[in-house]
Amino acid sequence: MSFDIIKGMATTLRNMGKKPTTVSYPEQERELPARFRGLHVLHRYDNGLERCVGCYLCAGACPADAIYYIEAEENTEENRVSPGERYAKVFDVNLLRCIFCGYCEAACPTGAITLEHQYKLASYFPEDMVYHKEQLLEPEGQATIGTSAVWFEPPPSEAAQPIPQETQMFDGSQASAAAVGLGNIPNEEPVLLTNEEQDEDRRKLQRGKNREKV
Ligand code: SF4
Ligand code: SF4
Repeated sequence: MSFDIIKGMATTLRNMGKKPTTVSYPEQERELPARFRGLHVLHRYDNGLERCVGCYLCAGACPADAIYYIEAEENTEENRVSPGERYAKVFDVNLLRCIFCGYCEAACPTGAITLEHQYKLASYFPEDMVYHKEQLLEPEGQATIGTSAVWFEPPPSEAAQPIPQETQMFDGSQASAAAVGLGNIPNEEPVLLTNEEQDEDRRKLQRGKNREKV
């Protein structure tokens, strides 16, 4: 008997009493780690408003160009979808490109997108692998923060995120957390646009326009 056979038999004997590491899928499924990253979910606030404010930061952070189409639309008083200035009217993720790295989740300023535990994503048709907002959005009345709960320490109670305001709009001259849907947190001081260079450019433009009028 060669030494290799003895080695092989020893390995078999060593593992004979151990529990199998395989499971009989699909009848049995593995328990996933809390931070497992599967299909994306778009979250809502408790009051039903969507967290996504259509800022494109997730698309910018994506290393695989998987979030390849977001169309942002202005909120109006008649049609308020998110607490920010805008909301994502269209949000498409191409799961054939996605590498489930979670960068989109980390880049999102409002906790709108997380990667959850759905991993059964096979399809016969490549076009089915492009998931649309309607497939990713949480149903109304079932708002969660998803796996953010295990990624981040809970904030202290005095810093807990309030239900976002719905009326105060971002006016373009004051930086406000409400602009990105972080709630009605008053600023200590208004942050005004004081970029001298931009102001000078604007003055030049105005002078040009005035000359045209004359
Ligand atoms: S998980 Fe990574 S690859 Fe997939 S959409 Fe998000 S950032 Fe892109
Ligand atoms: S980063 Fe967040 S809020 Fe901005 S578009 Fe992506 S999901 Fe929406």
